[in-house]
Amino acid sequence: MLLFSEAAAVFSEIEKRSGRLEMTDLLAALLKKAEGAEIGKLTYLLQGMLAPPYEGIDLGVGERFAIEAIAASAGYSKKEVEAHYKKSGDLGDTAEALIGKKKQTALSTTEMGVTYVYDAMLQIAKASGPGSQEMKIKLLTELLNNASPLEGRFLVRFVLGRLRLGVGDPTIIDALSVAHVGDKSLREPLERAYNVCSDLGYVAKVFYESPERIEKFTVQPFKPLMPALAERLSTPKEIIERLKKCAVEMKYDGFRLQCHKSGERVELYSRRLDRMTAMFPDVVDAIKGVKAKELIFEGEALAYDSAKKRYYPFQQTMRRRRKHGIEEASKEFPLNLFVFDVLYADGRDMTNEPYAKRRALVEKLFKGKILQPSQALVVDSTKKLKEIFDESLSEGLEGIMAKDLAAPYTAGKRKFAWIKLKKSYGKAVDTIDGVVVGYYLGHGARAEFEFGGLLIAVYNPERGKLETVAKIGSGFSEAEMVELEKMLEEIKAARPPEELDYRIEPEFWVEPKYVVEVAFDDITQSPTHTCAMQDGKGYALRFPRLVRIRTDKGVREITTSSEVAEMYELQRSKG
Ligand code: ATP
Repeated sequence: MLLFSEAAAVFSEIEKRSGRLEMTDLLAALLKKAEGAEIGKLTYLLQGMLAPPYEGIDLGVGERFAIEAIAASAGYSKKEVEAHYKKSGDLGDTAEALIGKKKQTALSTTEMGVTYVYDAMLQIAKASGPGSQEMKIKLLTELLNNASPLEGRFLVRFVLGRLRLGVGDPTIIDALSVAHVGDKSLREPLERAYNVCSDLGYVAKVFYESPERIEKFTVQPFKPLMPALAERLSTPKEIIERLKKCAVEMKYDGFRLQCHKSGERVELYSRRLDRMTAMFPDVVDAIKGVKAKELIFEGEALAYDSAKKRYYPFQQTMRRRRKHGIEEASKEFPLNLFVFDVLYADGRDMTNEPYAKRRALVEKLFKGKILQPSQALVVDSTKKLKEIFDESLSEGLEGIMAKDLAAPYTAGKRKFAWIKLKKSYGKAVDTIDGVVVGYYLGHGARAEFEFGGLLIAVYNPERGKLETVAKIGSGFSEAEMVELEKMLEEIKAARPPEELDYRIEPEFWVEPKYVVEVAFDDITQSPTHTCAMQDGKGYALRFPRLVRIRTDKGVREITTSSEVAEMYELQRSKG
């Protein structure tokens, strides 16, 4: 049995390190100690979660509950716990300190294994209905009663969703390979397995049962794949040079849906793999009618007015649905799902098949009114590609997606298998998606109307770190400023986010929660920002401005530091 105290000791070591190799070794040693039945649970704990996001399991423990549990367990008053928290800025640290100075000790304590802790956390998450809040506090108090100060630190951070050890998924994957076969040789199949099911705990469990099964891992209904992502180029000419003959599809600015069907069961997942089934009953019904027992496919949902020949973009589609209710809106503004890929069909994993073959299946399967194939045409000249691009803009779409006819589906990866060409690319304007890590308030005469700005970070998956890339001071409407200030006030934090690497400090730190799209003129190198920093210089956005808040993206899906570096190279190569 792997004790939770052993895990906590390793967590604490990992926090002190920043080198990926060192962290991999520490983790591998810990994973090696886990038994087959523990490995999946330990993996989830390392990721700071109890299950993949699409399972919708949320601990639902707020700071208030955690404070009560710490107070009850350590024998302090809530006021005393709050006062300590005010100073420490981290409830995990407060738990550790106060458990270390317990005013009362429990009569007997249980030795907690990793499984025991995981199961108790799951019970906390699943408590619902009347009396569930007291239940959650009671369960957490029991865990803390059995905990050493160090265990208390990590238990509390975990239940608050703030474990943030700074180990990214790639490091966990490397460590799994090292722990089980002695080296990193199985990194690739493990990574692929993870990319096609988005469930690292499950992958770890299967891997410990049999490494061969990981090498033959296939997609399965109701385990959503991490979406394939597109690279960008800025002209039709570059695209044809790169892909030669390729398929050109309309790029719909809708809501990306990954649809799973097996028999009568249908589930829909968003781009960030949250379950969205209840939001789209019309799409679900249409899928039930498709002639295939088992299917996984992807499309872009948006409202299309065939009389006016007009597409309604994502924001507007969603607003209508909220305003008029889902049922009503489905009738009045019927949605179309433009299907652009199929990944699994009646027992066949299609992800390794070439695009051309998958596309043929899309055209065969989807002929309905709601579900229809995305518009696509095979071209081999710059002129033709440019024509389709212009046509897309004239129809109110945002551009095109060019697709490599021979490429497999690249789950979870940004590859040149898909290349996007958007309206704005011709000009100097481009955008990234970053997460807000801090903010500034306005100063001066009109202070109450001035919102000072946002500090924005991108993600570096190799290092498991957030790295700053811009300070945005403009692009906000007055209403947005008020809204942003309110939203950010609520997630204000006493300290910088654990996984953030920074050289400048905002007026207030916040939890990394809100993803925003940021436009900019170009990218420069700067000593103040840590994005892909080398020799004291990182990348920074010039003239950054806020485009919108992106509710469809999670912190894990933001632009990566290496993408920013690539954009910099792209811009340099264009002179
Ligand atoms: P990304 O998804 O690449 O991180 P993003 O979310 O900012 O970036 P865009 O850069 O606008 O979105 O383009 C990619 C998105 O375009 C896809 O995620 C998908 O939702 C959408 N899309 C629209 N039409 C298509 C199509 N025909 N084929 C593939 N994707 C499409």
